Amino acid sequence: MKAEIINVGTELLLGNIVNTNAQHIALGLKDLGIDCYYQTVVGDNGPRLKEILALALSRSDIVILTGGLGPTYDDMTKQTVAEALNRKLVIDEQSMNHVREYYGRAGKEITENSLHQAQMPEGAVVFENEWGSANALAIENEGKTVILLPGPPREMCPLFDNYVSPYLQKKSNSVIVKRSVRIFGIWEATVDDKLSDLLQNSKNPTVAPYVKEGEMQLQVTAKAPTKEEAFKMTEEPIKIISRTLSNYVYGVDVDSLEETVVKLLKEKHMTLATAESCTGGLLAKRITDIAGASDVFEYGFITYANKAKIRELGVKPETLEEYGAVSAQTAIEMADGVRNVTGADIGVSITGIAGPGGGTEEKPVGLVFIGLSTKNFSHTKEIHIYRSTADRSFRRTLAASNALDLVRRALCDMPIT
Ligand code: ATP
Repeated sequence: MKAEIINVGTELLLGNIVNTNAQHIALGLKDLGIDCYYQTVVGDNGPRLKEILALALSRSDIVILTGGLGPTYDDMTKQTVAEALNRKLVIDEQSMNHVREYYGRAGKEITENSLHQAQMPEGAVVFENEWGSANALAIENEGKTVILLPGPPREMCPLFDNYVSPYLQKKSNSVIVKRSVRIFGIWEATVDDKLSDLLQNSKNPTVAPYVKEGEMQLQVTAKAPTKEEAFKMTEEPIKIISRTLSNYVYGVDVDSLEETVVKLLKEKHMTLATAESCTGGLLAKRITDIAGASDVFEYGFITYANKAKIRELGVKPETLEEYGAVSAQTAIEMADGVRNVTGADIGVSITGIAGPGGGTEEKPVGLVFIGLSTKNFSHTKEIHIYRSTADRSFRRTLAASNALDLVRRALCDMPIT
């Protein structure tokens, strides 16, 4: 089954707004296992919309249109579609009540124009818009399905997810299951090499790599008649990936390193405290982004200046003098210090040069030290973030990710590299 999307709106054509509706629908169709071969943007212009609709109906089974369902003169989608399909526009009682209620609730007067929103092409299936005034609709016509949705994304997205998607699901003979394996600390090229057969030859499920902010994700996508079958098909490739990449895999179907770390800390009934310099609180922010982090995280220090490192964490002035703030020695004293001061089970620290300025030949921009302190051992990791595309924000993100990964490895008794 083939679908295509037509987004109506002159603002879209002129580039005044980004076509997020197309993205939402395209992702939704992919989840339903429905192929989408074309997306078109057309202005608020009846003849051109008619033209593109005829083309869409000639090549696709499902045509989904967004925009132009409002009450104003330039909202012509419903009328144009009705004409193209030879359907009369008739008053739909459900939509009439909906418009009355909507305008009543909003304390607005019902105008002649707004009543156009109660008109539907004869025989249309109406989807009640709980998020706005214009109902959505589907028309079955000579074996084709035409869906009309309002333009505002806050209405379009829930209407698509709650009504259109289940409506289309009934027509699709397959479902898609997508799962993701999250990886940290290994080069993309190495992953490519180790898993080349899986990456190149998998058809169903497919295995696709995505790289973002220094992390990698392998997305495993299976298509089958039922969700259960599709899920089962994803298990073997996930097993192969996990076996091959072992400790570099930090989670399956999780959202982030911080989610994994908070979960592990909770499982082990342990607490973590952070001491940050160049990341300025980013690590603490990422940990506290996770709901329930307060069970495992009580203190996060931002000790940007040397005097803060000395006063708050007990870093020795001689250490700073001799090795500098960006050094393994300072990192370890920060980590030990934050653990001692807070009584946490694990202390983790970050000190580095985020750039763009501040680097020297000996200590260039991108040099970062992570300190890790537990009851049983202390450890430092030196990292070099020298990618050509790296900027201050990327370096800080990667520094925080490395700190999280170090904590994860410690919690899992994995070798710490
Ligand atoms: P309304 O009842 O608000 O007039 P409508 O169905 O007629 O809704 P439009 O007038 O086409 O929709 O669009 C209303 C607003 O929705 C636009 O100004 C824009 O902000 C947003 N919008 C429309 N289409 C899209 C799209 N494809 N992607 C993102 N936003 C969109």
